[in-house]
Amino acid sequence: MQHHWNEAVQSLRGQLGEHYFNLWIAPLAPLREDSGTLTVGAPSEFAAGWVRSHYAKPLTDALRSRVGRPVDLIIDLLPEQPSPARNPPERAASPAPVVPPPANAPEERYTFENFIEGPNNQFALGAARYVADKPGMRWTPLFIHGPVGLGKTHLLHAIAGYSARKFPGKRIRYVTAEEFINEYIQASQNGGMEAFRHKYRRQTDILLLDDIEMIRGKPHSQEEFFHTFNSLYGERKQIVLTSDRAPKDLDGLEDRLRSRFQQGLQVDIRPPDRATREAILRAKASSMGLPLEDDVVDCLAAGVTGNVRELEAALVALDAHVSLTGQPATLETAESILHRTIHLDGPVLTFALIMDTVATHYGVRSQDLRGKSRRREVVLPRQMAMHLCRTLLHASFPGIAAQFGGKDHTTVLSACRKMEKMLEQDETLRQSERMIRKTLGVEEN
Ligand code: ADP
Ligand code: MG
Repeated sequence: MQHHWNEAVQSLRGQLGEHYFNLWIAPLAPLREDSGTLTVGAPSEFAAGWVRSHYAKPLTDALRSRVGRPVDLIIDLLPEQPSPARNPPERAASPAPVVPPPANAPEERYTFENFIEGPNNQFALGAARYVADKPGMRWTPLFIHGPVGLGKTHLLHAIAGYSARKFPGKRIRYVTAEEFINEYIQASQNGGMEAFRHKYRRQTDILLLDDIEMIRGKPHSQEEFFHTFNSLYGERKQIVLTSDRAPKDLDGLEDRLRSRFQQGLQVDIRPPDRATREAILRAKASSMGLPLEDDVVDCLAAGVTGNVRELEAALVALDAHVSLTGQPATLETAESILHRTIHLDGPVLTFALIMDTVATHYGVRSQDLRGKSRRREVVLPRQMAMHLCRTLLHASFPGIAAQFGGKDHTTVLSACRKMEKMLEQDETLRQSERMIRKTLGVEEN
């Protein structure tokens, strides 16, 4: 079936247009086939979801007409490929050939300036700035740890870029642990150990080693790195390490190496909170030249709770939508992108959802909440809805005002104040609020 796949894919090229085709279809590759079922792989979870929801049918149809009998198509993930270095952010599925930058050239798009600070990363950012400015003065090693997609690699490149400008003479080396290990193995097999050691121990002033967790369970590489570390440390050179977990949790690591990792400064990066996610979305959208309304930012910041890479993926999808349809990014588009493609930890809270839920609870219509009627039956639900938008979405008063039919923001402010006061005094009202929150899935038990 696999050669049919290639024909089927090509037949869609004209139909979809070059842009769409290259973005989503070209990166797909057949993985296996099994009695009438073909499984193809997409380069990321995000791309797989997008293809499933947008192209599964045309692909299956095209395939079926070539095979001449019913077929099923499964869109799965391509097996993880060892990334060829620098860990580029997952650009949904861009098939453009990635030309790796020359070794050790910092990635210019990863800078301190475009790293958004939040309570989740401020210590890591502060420490990274410090060592970039005063390498070797304090904190060797600087050990930055945290889950994937939260900016560790970004910070290493930012350090590299900053130090390279400030200290043109310093030799700055960025390398992933995987590259280090591979280089070491090759050197040891090809009699290149002397050159290898010279490079890492003598010709390095700042060593930025990414994803050190890869060295777990590799005693020879650990041994070599232990000596590299000691040599640089002895010369007061700066070492920065990143890892997906803290040194104490790095199993499969020699104790002497672990204690080296612990002797400097350990800082963690945690997932961004809601406000930081919003700030990141705004900054990234503006650098992409993608205009985003407040409600769209709101929806994405609420829905994508995992990591920054997912935020970027959502923006890439929105951007693709905008450039392909010529339509601005609406709340609807954002919601559908979220629902179809991003793994959600909880319900996507939006203005619309809150209004609908409140309206249903009180037996009124959502449009009444947005309207101007002063009838008692709608005034209370409207105040409740505004209050919930305020507390659950952390929306601004003008932002809420705009969503509620363009009222004055002082109206929203006084409605919220009033509701808070009533909630303090009225147990029945508190019960209503709890029920609505439960329906929205945000009531902690
Ligand atoms: P990690 O190395 O921790 O897995 P990366 O450094 O590769 O994560 O970050 C993933 C993507 O998210 C990158 O494109 C990076 O630029 C972006 N990113 C992460 N944190 C931030 C932040 N605080 N501000 C701006 N971009 C960020
Ligand atoms: Mg990384």
